Amino acid sequence: MTIASAFAAGVRIRTLVFLFCFNALLYMSFSVLQDDLRALASYHLYSSSSANVTSNVTGSGTIASNIVQTDDSITLAPDLSPEPQISRKANATLVFLARNSDLQGVLKSMESVETHFNQRFGYPWIFLNEDEFTNEFKESVQLKTNASVQFGVIPSRHWYQPDWIDEGKAEQARNALKAAGVIYADSVSYRNMCRFNSGFFFHHPLLQQYRYYWRIEPDVDYFCQLQYDPFDYLEDNNKTYGFTIALEELGQTVTTLWQAVKEFMEQYPEYIHPNNALAFLSDNGGETFNLCHFWSNFEIADMDFWRGEAYTKFFEFLDSKGGFYYERWGDAPIHSIAAALFLDKTQLHFFNDIGYQHSNIMHCPQQPAFLTGSCTCNRVLSIDYRRYSCLPRYNKMLNGKW
Ligand code: GDP
Ligand code: MN
Repeated sequence: MTIASAFAAGVRIRTLVFLFCFNALLYMSFSVLQDDLRALASYHLYSSSSANVTSNVTGSGTIASNIVQTDDSITLAPDLSPEPQISRKANATLVFLARNSDLQGVLKSMESVETHFNQRFGYPWIFLNEDEFTNEFKESVQLKTNASVQFGVIPSRHWYQPDWIDEGKAEQARNALKAAGVIYADSVSYRNMCRFNSGFFFHHPLLQQYRYYWRIEPDVDYFCQLQYDPFDYLEDNNKTYGFTIALEELGQTVTTLWQAVKEFMEQYPEYIHPNNALAFLSDNGGETFNLCHFWSNFEIADMDFWRGEAYTKFFEFLDSKGGFYYERWGDAPIHSIAAALFLDKTQLHFFNDIGYQHSNIMHCPQQPAFLTGSCTCNRVLSIDYRRYSCLPRYNKMLNGKW
């Protein structure tokens, strides 16, 4: 072999190697794309028309905003404009109950909500407190958003322990819970807060003009860019109550709650929806409470439900038992039990695509919902299928599958 032919053979081999690698790369990219498309094709969050997905924020340049889904197929629509545009705005507000001392945690949560959602949607914020907010609180909060902000004081009768509560009995109960090592066992203010969130926040004058709310608490984190309006989603799909995390309650805080609920069900059977979600709350047809509830530090829901006849009667009935003070009934089980019993179970909604963390518990979307936004959470750490999560029970109740 001459030097020239050896060189030519070398070039041919290098060309062949290059072509082989190029094809392998092409094939791998195609497989990844196929996987993503398969995942998108099984993405069934939006059960109604494609208009819901694209009407609110258009052309944001991300995969989620370009999803167009018909009943059985999914395609990617062209990205028409670089900036998100809001084409409608729900009758909704972001509600934040806080103390002046919560300021740093409040600002942290606001930052997270604004960057992941509200900068693009501009929903108004409402802050509530049983005391006046300080100027420092108001000024700092106002600086965190371009949306409107209002500050409200809670009427005393909606907050403080009522006179008809036997304080001696309540104190004994607090001490007993404390001895049992239960969190917030001896806190009266925590009980005021739980009762207020259960029965009164939606009656506050500042909230009267609104139907939907998103509840925010101090020190929470959001992880995914939300590409659609969750309020519009509820309205368009006839949903009433949305959650991200479902958990078991501490049994000692609700010892007699289910007994009271059973009494209510007997007395007012007309309020129990025939297609209810009782199976989420009870594993034995309603005899006992399995402690499952939606974690109410995150809620996106319809206040007209809380303002309606069934819930009004329910709250008054439970309040009259004194369990907010004689035990430590939380607003989470109260809201959840009502939503599960009085609504059609299809009116509940798991906001799977909202990555969210409160204290050390986190929900991070799994495939395929992970593809709907740029989420920064670690999917492996999501609470969904871990101990104490009630999501499997929720799924079973809804679809018959854990
Ligand atoms: P946890 O989430 O159950 O641990 O309870 P938090 O301490 O986060 O309280 C729940 C919500 O109620 C948060 O938004 C708090 O800022 C608020 N909150 C709790 N206690 C009080 C209180 O005494 N006064 C006011 N104004 N807000 C409170
Ligand atoms: Mn909290």
